[in-house]
Order: sequence, then C-alpha cells, then structure tokens
Amino acid sequence: MRLDKYLSNSKIGSRSEVKILIKKGKIKINDSIIKSPSYKVNKNDIVKYENEKIMAYDNIYIMLNKPKGYLSANKDSNIPVVLDLIDHPFKDDLSIAGRLDVDVNGLLILSNDGNYIHKIISPKKEVYKTYIIKTKEEIEDEKLKMLMEPMDLGDFITKKSIAKKLDSNTIELKITEGKYHQVKRMIKKIDLTLTDLKRTQIGSLKLTIEEGAYKEMSKEEALLAI
Ligand code: URA
Repeated sequence: MRLDKYLSNSKIGSRSEVKILIKKGKIKINDSIIKSPSYKVNKNDIVKYENEKIMAYDNIYIMLNKPKGYLSANKDSNIPVVLDLIDHPFKDDLSIAGRLDVDVNGLLILSNDGNYIHKIISPKKEVYKTYIIKTKEEIEDEKLKMLMEPMDLGDFITKKSIAKKLDSNTIELKITEGKYHQVKRMIKKIDLTLTDLKRTQIGSLKLTIEEGAYKEMSKEEALLAI
C-alpha cells in the first residue's frame, strides 16, 4: 500500500495532510526518513510518526452475534444499535452486510471492504443466508414444499429456496435474497405464525460466538461468506 494511503487509513490525517507530513520528513520507516508519498509500505515495515508506531490498518471483517433489541444501523437516537456492541478504533468505517430486524438475532457481518459487502448482499451473487425459524403451529410437509417454490409476495417473487424441517415447529431455511422482512413474509404467506427468527450462517460462514459477542475475522475466515 502507498505510504500516503497507509497513513490516511490509519487516521493520522487526510490524504493531503499526510502528504505534507511525509514531505516535511516527519515519517520514518524502519528508522529512515521517507519523503515519498508513493513509497510502497511492506508488511514488515515499521512506520513511525513522532516516534510513535503507526498501526497497519487495512480491511476489517467482524462477526457479530446480534441480540434482539438492537437496530442494524450505525447510529440511532432512540434504539441501541449494533455498533454500540463493538469496541474498535475504526468502527465508524464499518458497514453492515445484510441487516437483521430489531426482533431478529444471529449472524451479522460488518466490514469496511465495500466489494466484500456487495458480494454478500447482491442477489446476483446468490449467497445463501441460513435462518432458523420457529413457528407456533406444527409444520406440514405441504407447507415446507410451498416455502421452497418461488412465492409471490406482492412486490416481488422470491427465488427457489431450500427448506428443511428440524422438528415439528422448527425450519431451517436458506435464501439468496434479503428483501424487506422477507422470511417473515414468506412464513405468513404459508399461514404459519413465526415465533422466533435467527440467522445462523451466511454462505459457508457459521455463527460461532455467543449472543452479544463479536470477533474480528481473518480475511480467510471472512471469505467463507462469499
Ligand atoms: N427476514 C426477515 O424477515 N427479517 C430479517 O431480519 C431477516 C430476514
């Protein structure tokens, strides 16, 4: 990564501000002053500003187990938001890949990597999102079949999905889309009453942490989602 980008990513200043710092000879790499903003910073380089080590900062991938009662948003004045659960110096740069309703819990991915987010949420990429649905009524096989076929929800027709009955009142549903209240509307459409909804998996990435917890993922782990 170019030195000026590295420094502005690390929140030292804007791209133009850090260029001035570099030209003034304020930045040292491996104890040598570097005055070229286009210098390519290597993984093992030690970058210092005023003798403070500047942390490398690139893409961030976070897995969060969202509890119910939190809004999938960066800020809201009335309801707690999922970002309140995360303590990270660059959390303001994170976007949410596929929101969950306030009353839904489970796997949420946050990242500052726009391409990655796009791949998760774009219907064209057909990434399966897996949900566990609890219903008030017992689930008949006929209804399970209806759930798997394209379904007219008024404003759009769903794509085929994969549904499996886990027990008399529990379904595992895999869908590639993420339209507004999609799962709730699909369950209503087959005349069942949804009592609980949780997302457990995105692509091959499984939720592995406790409710309310989060963890930073390696890029390799994050890529399981796409
Ligand atoms: N479908 C819903 O209805 N709500 C969600 O939060 C996610 C999928």
